[in-house]
Amino acid sequence: MAAGAVGAGDSYGGFRVRLVSELQSKGIRDLAVLRAISQVPRHLFVPAGVRHRAYEDSALPIGGGQTISQPWVQARYLEVLQLTGREKVLEVGAGSGYQTALIAQLADTVFGIERLPALAAEARSALQAAGIHNVTILVGDGTLGWRPFAPYDAILVAAASPSVPAPLIEQLAPGGRLVIPIGDRDTQVLTLLRKVGDQIETTALGDVRFVPLLGEFGFRPTSS
Ligand code: SAH
Repeated sequence: MAAGAVGAGDSYGGFRVRLVSELQSKGIRDLAVLRAISQVPRHLFVPAGVRHRAYEDSALPIGGGQTISQPWVQARYLEVLQLTGREKVLEVGAGSGYQTALIAQLADTVFGIERLPALAAEARSALQAAGIHNVTILVGDGTLGWRPFAPYDAILVAAASPSVPAPLIEQLAPGGRLVIPIGDRDTQVLTLLRKVGDQIETTALGDVRFVPLLGEFGFRPTSS
């Protein structure tokens, strides 16, 4: 787990405290998740033009037609993954790198895959500026997973997919958890899968709206 640190001592601490209270009032209970949100400097992960809105509970544009997800949604993802600090986690759709940073506070190691090289480069700089080092940002099609480092104790997919990409199920460790928005391009159901023996248990967690997962096992890039 990353040696905390990150946001401590900057002038945005008060804003983070307010965001944490807002998330608590909206039902987020997991103390480790709330602590991660109170530590990670979200303003380093959003473009300068929207920095004044960094601690609102809303999605914001991050360039390339993509968005950094709403903090409440990110907190929900992290609650259902039930990380203990020891896991190796794969994140598909690293985007700004903010959720990668949150996972880094809650797990041992994070591999974040991002399809757009420019976003991946910005995510790397923001993570470095935040002093977070137990993460690796990779560029590629995350619907294929990332075989060299598999299996993963948890997999988080931050973009909408018509179905669960088969390589991600294969690369999930026994007992592992995978969270993914499943549906069409307009609305999806946030879905939790657990690998139990050779069975997959599935739980629907509620409606969400994400940008599309574009790749071999997601939506086809040509129709985007
Ligand atoms: N967790 C991110 C959310 C980013 S939005 C954050 O906190 O900022 C989803 C991201 O998924 C976008 O950056 C998009 O470019 C990326 N994406 C879409 N399809 C992908 C794929 N096949 N592999 C990897 N990344 C993908």
